[in-house]
Amino acid sequence: MAEKLLLAIDQGTTSTRSIVFTSEGQTRAAAQEELKQHYPKPGWVEHDPEEIWRAALSTMKRALANARAKPADIAGIGITNQRETTILWDRATGKPIHNAIVWQDRRTAEWCQRMKKEVGDAELGRRTGLLFDAYFSGSKISWLLDNVAGAREAAEAGRLAFGTVDCFLLWRLTGGAVHATDATNASRTMLFNIATQAWDDELLRIFGIPRALLPEVRDCAADFGATATELLGQAVPIAGIAGDQQAATIGQACFRPGMIKSTYGTGCFVLMNTGDTQVQSQNRLLATLAYRLAGKPTYALEGSIFVSGAAIQWLRDALKIIKAAPDTQSLAQSLSGNDGVYMVPAFVGLGAPWWDPDARGAIVGLSRDSGIAHIARAALEACVYQTQDLMSAMRADGVADFYSIRVDGGMAVNDWFAQFLADQLDLPVERPAITETTALGAAYLAGLTTGVFASTEDIARRWQRERRFVPGADPALRQQRYAGWRDAVGRVLTRS
Ligand code: ADP
Repeated sequence: MAEKLLLAIDQGTTSTRSIVFTSEGQTRAAAQEELKQHYPKPGWVEHDPEEIWRAALSTMKRALANARAKPADIAGIGITNQRETTILWDRATGKPIHNAIVWQDRRTAEWCQRMKKEVGDAELGRRTGLLFDAYFSGSKISWLLDNVAGAREAAEAGRLAFGTVDCFLLWRLTGGAVHATDATNASRTMLFNIATQAWDDELLRIFGIPRALLPEVRDCAADFGATATELLGQAVPIAGIAGDQQAATIGQACFRPGMIKSTYGTGCFVLMNTGDTQVQSQNRLLATLAYRLAGKPTYALEGSIFVSGAAIQWLRDALKIIKAAPDTQSLAQSLSGNDGVYMVPAFVGLGAPWWDPDARGAIVGLSRDSGIAHIARAALEACVYQTQDLMSAMRADGVADFYSIRVDGGMAVNDWFAQFLADQLDLPVERPAITETTALGAAYLAGLTTGVFASTEDIARRWQRERRFVPGADPALRQQRYAGWRDAVGRVLTRS
């Protein structure tokens, strides 16, 4: 019998890709399509769900063709997705009633302020692990019900379905047979109680969201049905789902408490496995699900940095001081220190642990000798210090026993950055051989369900390190640098 393959659909904010993996977790072939961004008003961001669906289907077919694989060669499909993005559709026709409201969309900021007064962040945190923020799906559902003609009545009558992108794709892939999501995607809606692992009736009541809208919640590695036969010519099992950051956590094999993965793309997301413990953060980090397997939830603490690689793009596209992102490495290396120059890339406010949406960016400490190299180095250093902020917040929340941090995303290929990260965090930084960790995580989940992998230990054994960066900075220097960063942040904060 031919070797069984796994197919991952990775539906991201700016692109949709499908990747065929071997049963050893090696990439066999891929296909990708860009996704159009719609900005109907300042602060609003939408996607066309039909475009998402077409891209998912066409990239699946192309990836299979590129891998010279038949649908019968695929043991299972895994789906991973941009989280929180919200779609409502008509159960009878399968048609969305509005564009998808994307996680970045801020139109519901006021709703969140109102609900925060009514419910309080502490109560929401206890139930969902989240904070009141327009980022999560709950407020977006509420907006659609209030602003699309007839939506509320249709929802109450059970004629509409809600789903994050995974759930919408699953519905379409199964020809409308399955309305389900996984626990990690559910955990980002503001409606799912992560302690009881069920939709929270009390929150649904307060937010006025009919339960009839909601999908069934399954484990990340589960039987999600099969593709409708006409799509690929043969039914293929759909066997894994996780939100993108959680899928990356699985792709990085962070299965033990204390293990951390940090993804440096446009923004940066740090997730630390906290095992059975749902940590109630006192430092404005999110408690979330890392994954749920065989009915057992494993929790994580999550911190997000809005701008990381985006600061490098800004150097290239707005300042035009570099030609390409990798140039930052030689520029940073050309200096023996930062000479007191810091950049706070608060272009869209600051995320965890500051949560200051009104803060704006700054470059401080400039002197007559400062040049392009200082600014490039300051941009790379900023991503490191922001990670350090998150780790300090995690420590303050009582989670102290980290032993290493596994990095991925576009910036992780920068050796100078990875070494500086190890030095500042005083932790080994590990870079995997396969940096497509998000898609890999989805494939691993599908492989767990279909018996390609026996267990998470089996997956962990397959994780391969490309390089390990060992910390070596002098403690006094480390502290001095970090103090400079905190001082720079202090200058841009609008609230204490
Ligand atoms: P996303 O998935 O968010 O689109 P990627 O993981 O593809 O992001 O990473 C792209 C980001 O990484 C870009 O913002 C780019 O500026 C940054 N980047 C890519 N290569 C390097 C590098 N060698 N050094 C620093 N930053 C880099």
